[in-house]
Formats: sequence, C-alpha cells, structure tokens
Amino acid sequence: MAYYQESKKFNLRRMAWTFPLGLLVVFGGADLYAYVILENPASFFNFVITAIFMLLIAVTAILAIDGAKIRNYRVRLLSMIFFAVFGVVCAWIFFLALIFEVSFFTVLTDFSTYFLKLTSGFTRNGGIPYFSWLAEAAFIIGFPISFIGTSKNGEFPYCEPCDKWSEDNVSILLKLPQIYTLSELEEKIKTDGIRSFLTYERADKKDANYHEFIFFWCATCRDEMHLSVKWHHIDDSKTFDKKQSELIMNLYELESGFQREELYDGKNDSEDRFNFAEAEEQQPEKPENYDPNEFDELEEI
Ligand SMILES: [Zn+2]
Repeated sequence: MAYYQESKKFNLRRMAWTFPLGLLVVFGGADLYAYVILENPASFFNFVITAIFMLLIAVTAILAIDGAKIRNYRVRLLSMIFFAVFGVVCAWIFFLALIFEVSFFTVLTDFSTYFLKLTSGFTRNGGIPYFSWLAEAAFIIGFPISFIGTSKNGEFPYCEPCDKWSEDNVSILLKLPQIYTLSELEEKIKTDGIRSFLTYERADKKDANYHEFIFFWCATCRDEMHLSVKWHHIDDSKTFDKKQSELIMNLYELESGFQREELYDGKNDSEDRFNFAEAEEQQPEKPENYDPNEFDELEEI
C-alpha cells in the first residue's frame, strides 16, 4: 500500500528571492498598518484594517512558499508562522517608532526602553491593554496559519521528476453499495482493481450519500496517478452544517497501468482532458457533471 509521501525538498534558488521579497512586502505592509491604525480616528475600523493586514501576510507568504516549491506541510506551516510573526513584530516596532517619533531601527536596537515608555504611559492612564494586544497578535498570526491548511498547492502531490505540482485532477462521484472504510477500499483496489469502482452508477452532488473519487496526475509525465476518496453524506442530527464530508483515503498511489482515459468511461481513449482546454472554457460544467455524449461532441470540434 503505497501512499504519496511529501519530500522535504524545496527550491533553494527560488527561495533565495521569494522569501526576501515576501518579507519586504510584509515589512512595508506592517509600516502602513501601524500608521493607519494610529491615524485612524474611528477605532471601530481597526478590525477591518487588521483583517486586511493579515490577508496581506497570508497571500504574500503563500506566494513565497509556493514560489520556493516547498512540498512538506510542516515546512510550509513553519514558513507561514515565520512570515506572520515577522509581520506582527515589525508592526509593533513601527507602532513604537511612530508614537515616539523615532526611526524603526532606533526602536529595534532599543526595544525594551520604548516598550517601557509606552507601558508606563498606559499605567498612568488606567491599565495596559494586554488583552487587545494579544488578540491582535492572535488574529494576525492565526489567520495565515489557517490559510496554509486550505492553500491550493499543499493538497496536490508533487511530481519530483518533473519538478512541479500534479495539479491535474478529475473527480468522479459514485453511488457505492456500501460505505467503505480505508482498509476496505485498499482491499478492493488490491483484489478487484480501481476499475471495479468505475462501473458503479455515477452520483450527483445533490445526492444525500455518495463517494467522491479524486484522481490526480502530473500533466507533463502522466506517470503516476494518485487517488483520494471522500465520503459525502447528510447528517440530519445536526442543526447546522448537515452536509458532511469525510476524507477516507488520501493520495493513494495507483498502479501504473491505470490510464487517465479510463476515467471517461473508456471512451476518448486517444484524447485526454488537457486537449480540451478550449472546449472546457465554453463548457462551464465541472468534469464530474459531464455527460459522455457531450464529451463526444466536443471531441469533434
Ligand atoms: Zn511529472
């Protein structure tokens, strides 16, 4: 049973410019953020400004991380934390620099003096707002961290020989006769092959209970195919969020004999989805909803 394993690799040459550039953007953003927060007369808007700043950090860091082709989830996460903490610390230094009208580097080299100056001011005026500082830091660091979990590339396998993400994928919705556990899925793939699943009736996204088989492959070498399986069902015992999705299988490495083309009911055997880029633009439907007859028509274009 082979599953996709993230390598710990990354592209050092790209990292050497994406990280400094990303940090520079965050640095500039922190300056602007501190300035706007201090100048802003309506403190109600501070929340919106903080939200914009944390979004800036998240997007910048994701671009830097993906640009450096970092595959490993932990390294991606650590990089994101690094960017976010850098953003918060810079913003605080800029706050102090703006309040006491000194330069960023003056505060940086003598942070404790300026921090004590600030807190003594607060102590005279009725308490140090530790809570709002902590809340601010938690927001600015917490959001980018949650961002890494949902970021696009981290979900795809990485094709090491081609040095790129295996972003091509197709998802097939199936009505299976039972709800499969991971070991049952593995067993059936091993004994009957993955093709045995494709003979089942296709499900619809509106159905109450179905399995989603997502196949990933590298557009360049098309060598290996990975399979993730999700079980979607409706849980009526819940008041909210009745639609539940469970990831049963995550990036299972399929046997190399299996061809992408077989996903399209064995038709279009010489063509593949990628040649349909133009046709797909005119056809906004997602692949899982496609009708084999329509696909035949597209082929004739
Ligand atoms: Zn490849």
